[in-house]
Amino acid sequence: MEPLSDGFFGLDGGAMFGVVPRVLWRQKNPPDANNRILLALRPLLIRTGDAVVVVDTGVGDKYGPKFNEMFNVDHRVGLRQSLADHGVEPEAVTHVVLTHLHFDHAGGATRLDPAGRPVPTFPNARHLVQEQEWHDATHPNRRTRGSYREDDFRPLQAAGLVELIDGDVEPLPGIRLVRTGGHTRGHQIVLVESSKQFDVYWADLVPTTTHLNVPYIMGYDLYPLETMDCKEAMLGRAADEGWTCWFEHDPAVAAARVAREGDRFAVEKAIHAVPQGENDD
Ligand SMILES: [Zn+2]
Repeated sequence: MEPLSDGFFGLDGGAMFGVVPRVLWRQKNPPDANNRILLALRPLLIRTGDAVVVVDTGVGDKYGPKFNEMFNVDHRVGLRQSLADHGVEPEAVTHVVLTHLHFDHAGGATRLDPAGRPVPTFPNARHLVQEQEWHDATHPNRRTRGSYREDDFRPLQAAGLVELIDGDVEPLPGIRLVRTGGHTRGHQIVLVESSKQFDVYWADLVPTTTHLNVPYIMGYDLYPLETMDCKEAMLGRAADEGWTCWFEHDPAVAAARVAREGDRFAVEKAIHAVPQGENDD
């Protein structure tokens, strides 16, 4: 498991912590003048056998200055550069797992060609998406519309690269996709088992280490009670079995071992800390 980077961005702190008051989260997550907190865009690279798997794709670079300003996008390192740093060409990627189709997870799955048309970033990859998520992204309602952008995923379908899955599947030996619901009905997380360790990529089930506190649930979540139950159960297993936990949006801690702390969970040991100072906004 290798952490990739599509840079950083900012979302409203209130929306990131739902009903939890600002006084409780602002110290660990200092908001800017527009109340946005710094978040990482951290896809994951898994190389196993002949497969090269990218999990989530960040926000991508299709959306221009207005979007980038609104979400405070910092793309000094983008996903393609990050992959190149790991010696991976986009054509070599065999699988892309999309935990869900929100723009900060699926945005980098397409890019603009020289004519300005969105095309797949990874032209040889099977893109694994939950069928429920595909349905909901292609039939958005007034609440969900702002999070889905067709240019992120329709070109994948047009190129025949989308593989819809239903529920929990093991697309490659040792890699399990588990549908959690909560954030969206079709949201999935990734469990990776090797002889040495057990890893979990939480995606938006536990987006940052601050969300290890069970009732800290994003205002974006469509089914927050489902998130809470699933999070509590899965974090319990992670703590008891010593899983390595990967946090997609935590700006400082990429991966950590977690432990029970009363009725909540906390970082026991950070495994991958992120060099700070990459973001000086
Ligand atoms: Zn997200």
